[in-house]
Amino acid sequence: MKFEPVIGLEIHAELATRSKMFCSCPVIDITQSEPNSAVCPICAGMPGVLPVVNKRAVEFALRVALSLNCKINSTSTFARKNYFYPDLPKGYQITQYEQPLAINGQLTISLPSGQRTIGIRRVHLEEDTGKLTHIQNQNNGHARSYSLVDLNRAGIPLLEIVTEPDFRSAESVRFFAESLRSILRYLEVNSGDMEKGVMRIEPNVSVRPTGSAALATRTEIKNLNSFRSLERSIDFEIHRQIRLVEQNEEIIQQTMGWDEKREVTIPQRSKEEAHDYRYFPEPDLPPLQVEQTFIDEVKSRLPELPDEKFVRFQKQYNLNAYDAGVLVSEKSIADYFEAAVQSIPNTNPKLVANWMMGELFGLMNKEGIGIEEIIISPNSLSGLIQLVSKNEINQNTGKNVLAEMFATGRSAEVIVDDRNLRQISDDTIIRNIVDSVLAENTEQVKIYLQGKESISKWLYGQVMRQAKGKANPQIVQKQLDEQLSALKNTYRS
Ligand code: ADP
Ligand code: ZN
Ligand code: MG
Repeated sequence: MKFEPVIGLEIHAELATRSKMFCSCPVIDITQSEPNSAVCPICAGMPGVLPVVNKRAVEFALRVALSLNCKINSTSTFARKNYFYPDLPKGYQITQYEQPLAINGQLTISLPSGQRTIGIRRVHLEEDTGKLTHIQNQNNGHARSYSLVDLNRAGIPLLEIVTEPDFRSAESVRFFAESLRSILRYLEVNSGDMEKGVMRIEPNVSVRPTGSAALATRTEIKNLNSFRSLERSIDFEIHRQIRLVEQNEEIIQQTMGWDEKREVTIPQRSKEEAHDYRYFPEPDLPPLQVEQTFIDEVKSRLPELPDEKFVRFQKQYNLNAYDAGVLVSEKSIADYFEAAVQSIPNTNPKLVANWMMGELFGLMNKEGIGIEEIIISPNSLSGLIQLVSKNEINQNTGKNVLAEMFATGRSAEVIVDDRNLRQISDDTIIRNIVDSVLAENTEQVKIYLQGKESISKWLYGQVMRQAKGKANPQIVQKQLDEQLSALKNTYRS
């Protein structure tokens, strides 16, 4: 029997607002800050405090929901999801449950096998929890273990995006996740720094006989924060489940963890142990009303998204799909490319793409920096490309000039003039000039061969004149010496 995997995703993305979801504490990078330095009575869960919805978080959520073609609910509600855990100071999480902010969206992704549209079941707002750090100490042979809690993350606005079970491969999940990350970054609502945990993905995985329409029992893999573990864990889980079904064993609905080192999924808790969250409406928050005018306003300010840009770049700049794909992967890269192309009239977009994706990205990778951090302006890159196109410097000189631009921020023109790079240093070009000078001045060559070697200075001058003074002096001298002594040898024999 053949099996097909069925996968649906729950994605949690922190919203990069200035303040938290229900209080005015700042949203900070928890990997870079003193623990519990951005905490107030509200996000610390003190009794008697009142939450207030962050309007900016609603706006950010709308940006995402609209970009995923969702239907926006003009009224949505908040609920309390109750459970006890040390990183959840209130004892419940405020989340949208029965009436989420948005439903019924879709996102089309491009796979190697073609396009595929993934349904978006819901997009809702909630708050993040705190973070626990578990410590194991060996003290005089006594093991001591304890946990530290940092509430800086508690209350950071969190967007939950739930897809339909529309995926049929781990690879398609990775493409979707990459595409979604790119959209979140384009919308400037999330940094996409998955290693910092600002975007976490939980795939739900089941397998069924190919052709069957019913959904089989699923497992859920918790909190994956890299594309690599996302794809690998799903593949592992698919094969594990197929093996079980083939052995007539039962799939247990349970939550799995991903062991990064051993690359296996590990059961964490089964359905029987699953929480009963006892959801009930949040009594301290009225239903969230979003006006159509607000939705329209957010919509009108949405940026061009990666997919549209991908199509436009191929058309407008005559780029192939590969180049266009790389250039639109980050908005900052796409913006840089367009600025470079437009800064000097008649700049060839393909050349800009080549220089960026080859040399410039190479230098950036070597330094480990992004395009926002480089000191070469787009205009300056175009200037360099212009010099190379006009053959004022050759390709290799161009690469060296770019490296110097990268290090100093000086313009190509300035570097080329300063270092006198416009000269001709090409052996073959210079040899050809020497050839033609010797052929044109047979009289002087004869005088040289008869012993008056000082006339070589005059010949040198002729070569330089033909090269309009741009030839590399050492190379001219070397070529001239070589050819004259070769002539001398044949003259003697
Ligand atoms: P919860 O996990 O809270 O019970 P849902 O039942 O809505 O929530 O499902 C969560 C995710 O699991 C959704 O992305 C959905 O598409 C996916 N899903 C549901 N059933 C299956 C299944 N049988 N196989 C794979 N994915 C599934
Ligand atoms: Zn607070
Ligand atoms: Mg779930």
